[in-house]
Amino acid sequence: MSFIFTLRTKVISGKNTINEIPIELRKLGVKKPMIITDKILREKTDLIKRIEDVLKTEYGQYVVFDEVKPDSECSIVDKAYEIAKKEGIDGLISVGGGSSIDTTKAVSILFQKGGKIKDHTGVYMLDGPTIAHIAVPTTAGTGSEVSHVAVIKDEKEGRKLVYVDWWIVPSVAILDPTLTVSMPPTITSHTGMDALTHCIEAIHSTENNPISDAFALHGIRLIKENLPRVLENPSDIKSRSLMQVAAMMGGAAFTYAQVGVIHAIAHSIGAIYGIPHGLANTVMLPYGMKFNLPECPRYKLVADALGIKEENELKAGQKAIEQIYMFIKSIGLPTSIKDVGVKKEDFGKIAELAIGDPSIISNPRYAISQEAIEEILQMSWEEKI
Ligand code: NAD
Repeated sequence: MSFIFTLRTKVISGKNTINEIPIELRKLGVKKPMIITDKILREKTDLIKRIEDVLKTEYGQYVVFDEVKPDSECSIVDKAYEIAKKEGIDGLISVGGGSSIDTTKAVSILFQKGGKIKDHTGVYMLDGPTIAHIAVPTTAGTGSEVSHVAVIKDEKEGRKLVYVDWWIVPSVAILDPTLTVSMPPTITSHTGMDALTHCIEAIHSTENNPISDAFALHGIRLIKENLPRVLENPSDIKSRSLMQVAAMMGGAAFTYAQVGVIHAIAHSIGAIYGIPHGLANTVMLPYGMKFNLPECPRYKLVADALGIKEENELKAGQKAIEQIYMFIKSIGLPTSIKDVGVKKEDFGKIAELAIGDPSIISNPRYAISQEAIEEILQMSWEEKI
């Protein structure tokens, strides 16, 4: 076993921790930050205003870029960077879900590399630290606030581009649970399932290690307990906070262990049909696990974390899959690709994209083939668990 472990992000968790943003900006030596967010958060919630109020009273000058869209696109990143350069920005604050955080990470790449974001896709493109980035997640799902990955859609080619580098990991993550209360129930459940998928894929990944296991297994326990609670009572701040921590732990887990075939397919159906990322993971999770089960005795760990009492590894894994399937149903989400608009005639195209997705490399069972991906898609189509 060999692995690298660094905790690069300072995580500040708790109610009203947005008040810490000015202190952290000063510590990072930032004079003029840019908030990167989306219009829904700015116009339909009070979240951006609350952060602006903190900056106005405790800080000074700043700029807001609010043009991020769900599944951010290359042209949005390029535009945000151009504005940031013109404004003389020296620090970034992402406020939003994974789309805003990933856009900001991509802008941070341009601060060192220049040019257009499409030209820098790949791994380890940076030579050292780039512009400071404080991430303020408003969903509890992606874990992007601590991950070394950014996913940006190439809107011209209809595929998701992946950027991986330790230097794009945000310097600070502010986990203020009061920011997640305004999420509509569907976004709460989709993003919570995204976090669960990160934890499970970190467990089954060939890159798993004891530290990623610790993050992932406790993340699973927290999500199992707290996702139903926040759906039942959206203002339950304690459970909202624990969901944010679980999502962060899922992000840390997959950063140190990678993901697998579930994400590879989710990225593909997300790019083709615009299915929200967490939902795309949801309709693939039980079936990716079912495909992997014959070669993944580690699902016994997932079963243990879910409270399943079964000593036989294969049976424990099967029970974990069944419990996850029932959990998805219990929180009112669909359990098949059929329910989210995937078309059978597109299976070939989905498989082609999934095979080229770097997430697939660390899947525990070899899945880099058209047949394997189509088999998993068919399982989801038929809800075969
Ligand atoms: P998102 O950022 O796309 O946001 C979805 C919608 O939720 C938006 O309309 C947004 O305005 C709204 N929203 C967010 N917070 C809200 C709140 N508190 N109240 C009301 N509305 C709110 O959603 P996401 O699922 O967090 O992010 C998905 C993106 O993250 C995808 O592009 C995915 O590929 C990427 N991702 C990245 C990583 C990573 O490690 N970098 C991991 C997983 C997913």
